[in-house]
Amino acid sequence: MAYDPNNVFARILRGEIPCSKVREDEHTLAFHDINPQTPTHVLVIPKGAYVSWSDFAETASDAEIAALVRAVGVVAREQGVAEDGYRVLSNIGPHGNQEVEHLHIHVFGGRPLGRMVP
Ligand code: IMP
Repeated sequence: MAYDPNNVFARILRGEIPCSKVREDEHTLAFHDINPQTPTHVLVIPKGAYVSWSDFAETASDAEIAALVRAVGVVAREQGVAEDGYRVLSNIGPHGNQEVEHLHIHVFGGRPLGRMVP
């Protein structure tokens, strides 16, 4: 899938539209979801132009991959959901109902989340 440089997260990364920033490092940005589904709902994104996990896995540097994985764990800890637990989710492609075609990881928490279906 080709990367659209005008997707909303690319525009956030360029500073063209605002976000409620949670944390940032050289390779990642984390911000509150504009339409939160749980008391804690943070999106963690790589700064690079990746649509899917496959793009990311196949072309990102080891430093970018490590930074994204670390950022998710740090966000969970800093948002106060690490102890009670949380859910990490990525929607990819049409079958995954991906709305924004820039790879992102949802971090949901702050209440019991029930069993995920499917
Ligand atoms: P997905 O692509 O289906 O995984 O979901 C995209 C997510 O991005 C949704 O949860 C939206 O609420 C969220 N979203 C869309 N636009 C913005 C924004 O401008 N700021 C923060 N979150 C956004």
